[in-house]
Amino acid sequence: MHGDRIVQVWFGSHREPFKTPRTRQAMGLEGLILLSVHRTGKHIVCELGPASGSPPDAQWIVHLGMTGRLLVTTPEAPVAPHTHARLNLASGRELRFVDPRRFGRLEFRDLGRGAAFAASGAEPLTIAPEQFAALFRGRKLPIKAALLNQALLSGVGNIYADESLFHAGIRPRRNSGRLTRAELERLRQALCQVLDHAILLGGSSVSDYVDANGVRGFFQLEHCVYLRTGLPCRQCKTPIRRILLAGRCTHYCPNCQR
Ligand SMILES: [Zn+2]
Repeated sequence: MHGDRIVQVWFGSHREPFKTPRTRQAMGLEGLILLSVHRTGKHIVCELGPASGSPPDAQWIVHLGMTGRLLVTTPEAPVAPHTHARLNLASGRELRFVDPRRFGRLEFRDLGRGAAFAASGAEPLTIAPEQFAALFRGRKLPIKAALLNQALLSGVGNIYADESLFHAGIRPRRNSGRLTRAELERLRQALCQVLDHAILLGGSSVSDYVDANGVRGFFQLEHCVYLRTGLPCRQCKTPIRRILLAGRCTHYCPNCQR
């Protein structure tokens, strides 16, 4: 779905699911590219932009409510009762929002005019070490994906995740539930350093971060791994590697991170 363009939007006639008026929502969505999709609790947030690789400039937020579901299917697939939205994608797939009880909500946010969807996770700068470790206990997903999960920790963007994993010496693909207490504590401290530093530099990143006012930060001179694919590691000179993980570009040093 990542990189797919929304070519056409159909909305049903029930008014309840549309937090943003139907016509404005349809006009906003059509033509945009799905850059990434993440889930935070009962919300699915689709980051949208004019071209793949561009920073997001809009979000389509699906509040699932009690019975809402977002389906990826094809236009030919039978349309279930209580389908309120169908988004045709350039790849030939179709996204559908189905919600029998209509407590779910669909919202379009233009990030040039308003704030990005606020996450509900813990605040990384103030969370206690024990609570931080507890966030990852029993989780099977890669640590990088867990860090980006806004329902767990809020405000950890792609760059912060890569940089803090580098400083903690942890490979992004490691199973988060298997990290030792010592590794998690290194990670928590690294995250605090990276976030503190970013705040000092007046924002954050190159491509994937927009602050609450819709202002993009600048923070690229001192990255250790982010967007440094093939360049020598600042600590050991091993070329930095880039992989795709949870739909996001992920950068790490294969020697310093284990
Ligand atoms: Zn290295």
